[in-house]
Amino acid sequence: MTLEAFPDAAHPITWPEGKRAAASFTFDVDAESCTIAHDPKSTSRMSLMTHQSYGPKVAVPRLLQILQRQDIRATFFVPGFTAECYPDTVRRIVDAGHEVAHHGYLHEPMQGIDAETEARYIDRGLEALAKAAGVEPVGYRAPWWELNWHSAGLLADRGFLYDSSLLDGDAPYRFTVAPGDTRDIVEIPVDWALDDWEQYAFYPGVTGSGVIESPAKVLEMWTLEAEAHHAQGSCFVLTNHPFISGRPSKAVALERLIERVKAMDGMWVTTMEDIAEHTRRTVQEVHTHARIEVLAFPDTGARFTPPAVRESRPAAAGS
Ligand code: ZN
Repeated sequence: MTLEAFPDAAHPITWPEGKRAAASFTFDVDAESCTIAHDPKSTSRMSLMTHQSYGPKVAVPRLLQILQRQDIRATFFVPGFTAECYPDTVRRIVDAGHEVAHHGYLHEPMQGIDAETEARYIDRGLEALAKAAGVEPVGYRAPWWELNWHSAGLLADRGFLYDSSLLDGDAPYRFTVAPGDTRDIVEIPVDWALDDWEQYAFYPGVTGSGVIESPAKVLEMWTLEAEAHHAQGSCFVLTNHPFISGRPSKAVALERLIERVKAMDGMWVTTMEDIAEHTRRTVQEVHTHARIEVLAFPDTGARFTPPAVRESRPAAAGS
């Protein structure tokens, strides 16, 4: 038994009339939540808290101006805790016409948690987004992009249209939420090379690569990624954190990138919701992820349950 390739990885989707590729600019408004989830004692560090609050307080207004100037709509993934702390920020995002999507409650570490606990986090995040700005999100991005094998079922139970936490594609696809389950959701895959965390994040004792790269280098790298997606007709998804990429020179570089991506012939620059809705309506193929079980590490082979399968379902039958 083997794992199955996506033979059509480069061209798995037909874009709307006149479009040959897609791009979405996404912002994870983690603010304080990700550092608190990482270490609850971090609330005692005043300077660290201000490094994080720079996002909603200073960067989001700046980013909203850039998006308005460039006349594009973006997707903001907002943890429930951020929405509770900064409801005005979330309302400004909504009022500007952007999509607000789900990003956990307190940016909880999802690795290894059971479905019941994860369901509680998701529901608490939903309540917070609804209360802060009347948002009913259709999209989900797991904190730290850590989706569990049971997560998609929890999302389908709650009527989510799409997830954006997996890393096995260049373009959106549909996948079944569990083996044998008739329900599926859309996945819009991400890529660590298209996350500002790796490029710019540095805080003593908290992150990361420890390198704050030049925005000129990052602009070049991300432009090359966008050009490659454009050339092969796939989907460029950039993940930025306002407290990182909303700082002055990084925001300037981001605006230049947006200008370049918009200028690419036939590039559909839009929200994740638009891309997911298009995928649900037009893609018939539904993938099942095979799960690897290592039976007795390290001297035996692996088992895949279930075997990877692809099937056709009527378009628009998804979640
Ligand atoms: Zn995050």
